[in-house]
Amino acid sequence: MPINITLPDGSSLQLAEGATGGEAAAAIGPRLAEAAVAVRVDDELRDLSAPLADGVSVEVITADSEVGRHILRHSAAHVMAQAVLALFPGARYAIGPAIEDGFYYDFEVGRAFTPEDLEAIEQRMAEIVAADQPFRRETVSKEEALLIFADQPFKQEIIESVEESELAETQQVSLYRNRDFVDLCRGPHLPSTGRLPAFKLLRTAGAYWRGDERRPQLQRIYGTAWESPAALEEHLHRLEEARRRDHRRLGPELDFFSFPPELGSGLAVWHPKGATVRELMEDYSRRTHRAHGYELVVSPHIARAHLWETSGHLGFYAQTMYPIMELDDGDRYVLKPMNCPFHILVYRSKGRSYRELPLRFFELGTVYRYERSGVLHGLLRARGFTQDDSHIFCTESQIGEELKGLLDFSLMVLRDFGFDEFEADLSTRPEKFVGDVELWDRATVALEEALKSSGLPYVVAEGEGAFYGPKIDLHVRDAIGRRWQLTTLQVDFALPANFGLEYATAENTRERPVMIHRALFGAVERFFGVLLEHCAGALPGWLCPVQATIVPVADRHRDYAVEVAASLEGRGLRVEVDTADETVGEKIRRAITQKHPAVLVVGDRDVGVGTVGFRLRGADEERGVPLEEATLRLAEFCRAPR
Ligand SMILES: [Zn+2]
Ligand SMILES: [Zn+2]
Repeated sequence: MPINITLPDGSSLQLAEGATGGEAAAAIGPRLAEAAVAVRVDDELRDLSAPLADGVSVEVITADSEVGRHILRHSAAHVMAQAVLALFPGARYAIGPAIEDGFYYDFEVGRAFTPEDLEAIEQRMAEIVAADQPFRRETVSKEEALLIFADQPFKQEIIESVEESELAETQQVSLYRNRDFVDLCRGPHLPSTGRLPAFKLLRTAGAYWRGDERRPQLQRIYGTAWESPAALEEHLHRLEEARRRDHRRLGPELDFFSFPPELGSGLAVWHPKGATVRELMEDYSRRTHRAHGYELVVSPHIARAHLWETSGHLGFYAQTMYPIMELDDGDRYVLKPMNCPFHILVYRSKGRSYRELPLRFFELGTVYRYERSGVLHGLLRARGFTQDDSHIFCTESQIGEELKGLLDFSLMVLRDFGFDEFEADLSTRPEKFVGDVELWDRATVALEEALKSSGLPYVVAEGEGAFYGPKIDLHVRDAIGRRWQLTTLQVDFALPANFGLEYATAENTRERPVMIHRALFGAVERFFGVLLEHCAGALPGWLCPVQATIVPVADRHRDYAVEVAASLEGRGLRVEVDTADETVGEKIRRAITQKHPAVLVVGDRDVGVGTVGFRLRGADEERGVPLEEATLRLAEFCRAPR
């Protein structure tokens, strides 16, 4: 009896009885059969070798899809464990999942792996791949499984902890074997090890069994695997680029900031050069906010717990807040995780009229959040940071206009700092929400209209909004294609109610204003970290703490170098004269490594005729450039966007 299966396009395919997923792929086309790594049968992933039942729907999974790569990577993890067990007799193996862009496996081998070990393991993996060993699925009882893994305590623990419910149906555990290697596994797997076209081991790390520091410490090996050598090459290149751009490396290297351990996790100190960049960013921020109708306010770093109870933060947000400080008189204070309640208090400090709305309060407000140490990541995820935070209070009918203006303002800021690729997410009403459904709908429509008129590409995240209102998140793509979330525009129906905010209408009745929270940079620190990675440390000229280095060729050119410096400073440029006892070449190299926009070299032929050797970032040195011309060109290169 032949069987019929349904393909993703709705068509049906007739196959011989007992046909496998692999045979289904071959019946569709030989190219598909070659690229196939598994099949999805009625929403469940299966091996290509599994026979298909009549009437199922079948989707062929290829190696170049996300799911396909996941299977590929998990198969690579098996091959790596097989290699380690062969090379390290007595090794114990724990777990080895596929992860984003790769895989890992945890082992107990009595010592840490060395770079030479990784090479040997990779070599052995290549041999296993060349041998093209088939992966075979097997199911055994729990007792049999315990026997098979009799000398593997981690596997035993996994078998013992397999949920009764999982065993309930068949009382069986599934295994995958290839040649002499066996692992506990749900699958699916590649048909054979020969189907692993490209892999690389990347690094090792210590990891506790089950993530528990009281359990044995294991040695983890991270690797990556791809559908082709070209895809692997591209990924390795991206990793290298990311390393080169890592702000945690660039920050100390360029003398911008550091994270001294004495200070505590997630807290940075800003060095003079970094503080100069910050000052420039913050001045830009204040200037542009004033120009866009914002009023600046200032608030303290702590407030009474009562304030956070009213705002609801102590209810919903407590685990991200630093613990409460209790004072002698019993009063309780909390370090602020957000600026919102303070701006609300400014709003509520007097009676408000519709004539004043929209009211836009702005503050570079420093907040503290107790992020788990595992998620901290340099300036991108810190425990103390400064938001360019605003709260806009407006009437319901003003929401649309306000959001349009806000979106334009946000894009202007992002473009001014050199970002030019944007995407937006619109998050809509979740199941649990506060406020009136119609109000939500109108605000969501207003957000979507603002997005449409901005021309930004956006996706709607249905039901992903906060319980208190819909929002827009803006993402930028950086120079190597990574996506970063920076700007957020959040409508809020809850806080104005919690604090009983009102304004007087034209008819002298009382209405509740709507609030919009928004941060354009997001946090100054995070924005700076992303910017630093985007431009690989070569900040736009106007943000560079040192915009030109002047290098006298010999001591006798020093006076002239100082003259040149004064001329540049006269145009508002930030310069330094490098008088260190080093060669000219060394000084130029240092200025370039420090990413200074210009190097001006002055020697015998410049003194007296008023010229300089001029090297602007990315260009070759030009000799004999008149000082006035060099000054103008550098001033243009370093002009602030507004
Ligand atoms: Zn597996
Ligand atoms: Zn807020």
